[in-house]
Amino acid sequence: MAGRLYLVPTPIGNLGDLSPRICQTLESADFIAAEDTRVTRKLLSHLELHKPLISYHEHNKRESGEGIVKRIAAGETCVLVSDAGTPAISDPGEDLVRLCAEANIEVCAICGPCAAITALAVSGLPTGRFTFEGFLSTNQKNRREHLLSLRRETRTMIFYEAPHKLLSTLQDLEETFGGERRIALCRELTKLHEEILRTTLSGANAHYAEQPPRGEFVLILEGAKEDEPAPLTQKDAIALVEKLIGEGISKKDAVKQVAADTGFPKNELYSAVMKA
Ligand code: SAM
Repeated sequence: MAGRLYLVPTPIGNLGDLSPRICQTLESADFIAAEDTRVTRKLLSHLELHKPLISYHEHNKRESGEGIVKRIAAGETCVLVSDAGTPAISDPGEDLVRLCAEANIEVCAICGPCAAITALAVSGLPTGRFTFEGFLSTNQKNRREHLLSLRRETRTMIFYEAPHKLLSTLQDLEETFGGERRIALCRELTKLHEEILRTTLSGANAHYAEQPPRGEFVLILEGAKEDEPAPLTQKDAIALVEKLIGEGISKKDAVKQVAADTGFPKNELYSAVMKA
C-alpha cells in the first residue's frame, strides 16, 4: 500500500508554535524532505528526533521529487518541511504535491505557521477578500507588469519582502498606488522584536528612509476603493511623454506639456525619461 505525503509547517520564529500534531507527524515520518537539511536538523535536535533527511529544494526539485514519489508509492511516509512556515507557499512543495496528486498519492496538510495569514490577520485591513502576491520579481520589467496588473485590485494584497529590498519595493508601491494607500508592515512576526506598522505608503517610505529596515517583513496593502480612479503615477507620466515623443514632438516640449497637464515637476520627468 502507498504511503502518504504530509506537508508540515514549522515555526516562523517562535518554537512555541510547534503544535502536538506537528511534532507527532514529524515523529511518524519514515523520512523527511527538507528545503535545507541543516536548518531542519536543528529543529529535529530541539525535538530530540532522529529521522533520515533528504534535500528537496528549488534547484533539485525535479530529481528529488521523482525519488520521493517512488518511495511513497512503495509504502513510506514522507514529511515535507521548508525552512520556516508552510511548505508550498512561496517555498518548494507545490511541484511535489502535484506529482503526488498525479500518482494518486494521498497528501495531508497539517495546519500551522504561515507568515502571510498571520500578517493579514493582524494588519487591521479588510480580510474578507485578499490576494497573495508573494515576492515581486527582481526583473524590472516583470516587476512593473506585476504591479501594473494590480492597480485596480480591490482586494487586500499580501506581499513577501526581504529587508534589503524593502525600500525600493515601498517606492515602487507608492508610485503605483499613490501615497495615501494604507499599508501594514508586519515585521519579525512571532519573534521578540515583532512590530506592526500601520500607516500609508508615503508614511512607510518616510519611516524607513529614516530607519533602515531589519528582519523579515510581510506587507499587507489595502485594495483600491471600488470607485477610486487609478492615481496617475510618475510611470504613467513618463509613458505620456514617450507617447508624445513617438508622435514626433521634441523631448523638451513633450516633458513641458506633460508637466503642465499632470503637475509632475519638469526636471523630475526629464531625468526619468533620460534614464528610462
Ligand atoms: N512558506 C513560508 C510561510 O508560509 O510563511 C514563507 C516562506 S518565504 C521564502 C519567506 C518570507 O516569508 C520572508 O521573506 C518574509 O516575507 C516572510 N516571513 C517569514 N517569516 C517571517 C516573520 N517571522 N515575520 C515576517 N515575515 C516573515
